[in-house]
Amino acid sequence: MHNNPWQRAQAQLKNTAKYLSLDPLLEARLGHPDRVVEVSIPLRMDDGSVEVFEGFRIQHNNIRGPYKGGLRYHPKVDMDEVKALAFWMTMKNAVIDIPFGGGKGGVTFDPKRLSEGELERLTREFARKLTPVLGPNLDVPGPDLNTNEKILQWIREEYAHETGADAPAVITGKPLRHGGTDGRTEATGLGGFYALMETMRLLGRGHSGLKVAIQGFGNVGSFLAGYLKEEGFKIVALSDSKGGIYVPDGIQDLKAIQECKAKSGTLAGCYCVGSVCDLSNMEVLGGRDISPQEVLELPVDIIVPAALENAITEENAKKIQASIVLEMANGPTTLEADEILRKKHVMVIPDILANAGGVAVSYFEWYQNMHDEKWKKDDVFARLKDKMDTATQAVYENAKDYKVSLREAAYIVALKRLYDAA
Ligand code: NAD
Repeated sequence: MHNNPWQRAQAQLKNTAKYLSLDPLLEARLGHPDRVVEVSIPLRMDDGSVEVFEGFRIQHNNIRGPYKGGLRYHPKVDMDEVKALAFWMTMKNAVIDIPFGGGKGGVTFDPKRLSEGELERLTREFARKLTPVLGPNLDVPGPDLNTNEKILQWIREEYAHETGADAPAVITGKPLRHGGTDGRTEATGLGGFYALMETMRLLGRGHSGLKVAIQGFGNVGSFLAGYLKEEGFKIVALSDSKGGIYVPDGIQDLKAIQECKAKSGTLAGCYCVGSVCDLSNMEVLGGRDISPQEVLELPVDIIVPAALENAITEENAKKIQASIVLEMANGPTTLEADEILRKKHVMVIPDILANAGGVAVSYFEWYQNMHDEKWKKDDVFARLKDKMDTATQAVYENAKDYKVSLREAAYIVALKRLYDAA
């Protein structure tokens, strides 16, 4: 039942509220989104036919600032998913302590099915329908699954066209030349790296040689893998939607793997020695192929779900051998799985902390636009580190004080900040 993300979000809220004797009015406000926007997007397709698409924007809560969260294009987008994701944005933005509330949106369709022209027409129509509820001080969308800077730029253009005001801060994730920020591409992976490093420091644990397996080798997974490897962790397994590779002694050349994946469309078979990547190297490296699921069940120290929701379920949680889970995807662990991991003393660094680096740097982009500033990449990264370290410390301290898991502690930190702002 708790595979329904909105039910899971509600359960997480209820579970944490009890530690704080939370004001029932605040609990009710967080248990119900402020505003639900549902739009129809009729579209003339390239072949002359007409299709109607369904779009959503959930403005969950703005106690701490403008609604903030991504727009996703995916066939599985539905109201409950978007509501849960918007709730998690409210919590995440409070944990990382940026002055934003939570929002999320999307359109239900498979973008691979549409031509470039259809995608642009759909996006512009979606943007026109959303314009009345968007604005730099009202609701600021950013990219998410299958949306990118080009799509966000179309939204900004439509907003400017409809309102007569070109406001770069109405969206984040813009191209650099159009007011985007340096460092956004790396931000989520780098933020997860900082959260992990700070947690290890607080625990007094060394990290050199620890084995890591990563599910999902997209933007987040690939940058995170690079930072971890540089710091002496051993990346032993990587997977994408089609398959994965496992090299128990450690994967050497991540860049070559990335190039191999870009060329062949999948990680499977990307066993690289020097710049040569093919299956014949598998034996040389002592590796073997794995399925996208198996990557989470390997004998490693740390697993990183960095793909989709519900990756860790009641079924596979029992098989997990790692002692740390770094949740880079949103909502990768079901409630039942969370309970199993707790009983097995697996430490979960929760999504609303681990992947908050992305929205932190989106806030930096918004701030630079609002104040007509331009920060250097080093400056962005230093500010990101400060945000991640401070948030990780707050979560760790609350976990100790309340004798709860890091996930519950992250919700406690968020609820305290929301209470202070209400
Ligand atoms: P992406 O589209 O760049 O990469 C996703 C990766 O997951 C791809 O390698 C894909 O092949 C893989 N994948 C998809 N289904 C899979 C499956 N069933 N098993 C294994 N791998 C699978 O996306 P991203 O930007 O890297 O985001 C990854 C996750 O992190 C998402 O859950 C996203 O919501 C979350 N997240 C991203 C950001 C960000 O800034 N990009 C911020 C916060 C959270």
